[in-house]
Amino acid sequence: MRTAIRSDIGASVLRYLVAVWTVGLAFAATLLMSPLVPPGISPLFLLAVMISAWRGGSGAGLLATALSALASAFVFLPPTYSLRIDRDDWLQLAVFTFAAVIVGTLSAARRRAEDEREALLVREQVARVEAEQANAVKDEFLAAVSHELRTPLTTIKTLTRVMQRREPSEAERREYLEDIASECDRQIDLVHNLLDLSRIKAGGMQIKSQRVDAGEIVRACEKIERAEAEEHGHRLLVELPPGLPFIRADHSALRRALCTVAENAIKYTPDGGSITLRAYSDGGSVIIEVQDTGRGIRAEDMPHIFDKFYRGQATGDGAEGVSENEQEVPGIGLGLHLARALVEGMNGLIEVHSHAGAGSTFRLRLPVWSGESNGDNEETALSPVETATANLPAGVIGRGEKAHG
Ligand code: ADP
Repeated sequence: MRTAIRSDIGASVLRYLVAVWTVGLAFAATLLMSPLVPPGISPLFLLAVMISAWRGGSGAGLLATALSALASAFVFLPPTYSLRIDRDDWLQLAVFTFAAVIVGTLSAARRRAEDEREALLVREQVARVEAEQANAVKDEFLAAVSHELRTPLTTIKTLTRVMQRREPSEAERREYLEDIASECDRQIDLVHNLLDLSRIKAGGMQIKSQRVDAGEIVRACEKIERAEAEEHGHRLLVELPPGLPFIRADHSALRRALCTVAENAIKYTPDGGSITLRAYSDGGSVIIEVQDTGRGIRAEDMPHIFDKFYRGQATGDGAEGVSENEQEVPGIGLGLHLARALVEGMNGLIEVHSHAGAGSTFRLRLPVWSGESNGDNEETALSPVETATANLPAGVIGRGEKAHG
């Protein structure tokens, strides 16, 4: 604050110094030329006023006018070196002062208009760059969503055609139907995520404050995800200690957030891995944890994985042992963004510990139920969240703070 005031004073002094400096120059030049020209007010002073007003604004223009009039009256108008002025010269001085004020005002106004035009141009350029960036994000988003919609639809169409064209065996028919159902689920998930995103943006997503059994949520998530995990040959483990306290959360929002994190664990772990869902109490909170033995998250992706539409890359890009499939995991980069919005909407915290190639652990921290409210009736609207990165130790990203590097 003090520095800003000091620099303001500095700029003002500089503006007025310009007036002193240009009038001084005009004075010196006029003095040098005085033996060659008749006595009177030199037009060089008008030039000094114009330059002063252009560089320093109308205040500097007025100062230059006053200094020029004074210098002319004292040195150049007879009787010289006296402030006494003949009657005829008063008129000359008045005309000069009038002209100088007009020139100074016009010059300052022109400069202001130029400055405003330049500022407008800069603002317009910034707005254009922002609009182009927004457009690029929108295009990328549309491309990703179209891809995510087209791929399952193509599978569904192909399988339906196969079933229409030839009579499949009972085992094949069951397998095709399962594939169709899972592709439909993928599409439904995508549409849900998109709807959630627009609801959060419009402030229309309500979060309840309910007494929730974290163990029940973990078991519900295990039930939902078991088939998918088994399809990939993963071991899905559940660890729940006895006597876990109730938490304050929204039952369905918490289940969705946890399932998103668990689905990611399944997706981003090469087949035959191990996924553990566990819950434990930690001070005034309960932590629900999803740990996987998957590909882990690259350090450069860590600060961004909760960002809207951000997709990390496979940790072993280009390295041996990374299959095409592993690099082309389906998704549009919305899951974690929404999971974080939901968890934070419940006054919770989501964080991740991960290292490339060494698996990931996501933690959802929710407050313990204190029991003093009637719970189910309390609702709060979820507000849009911004980029979440954190200043946690290397390999750890949580909410709220910005990560540096
Ligand atoms: P999506 O899965 O659609 O890409 P998400 O928002 O769910 O979007 O995840 C963002 C990114 O975080 C993913 O693209 C991936 O790089 C990374 N990620 C999330 N969960 C895991 C995990 N369990 N293991 C490794 N990477 C993960």
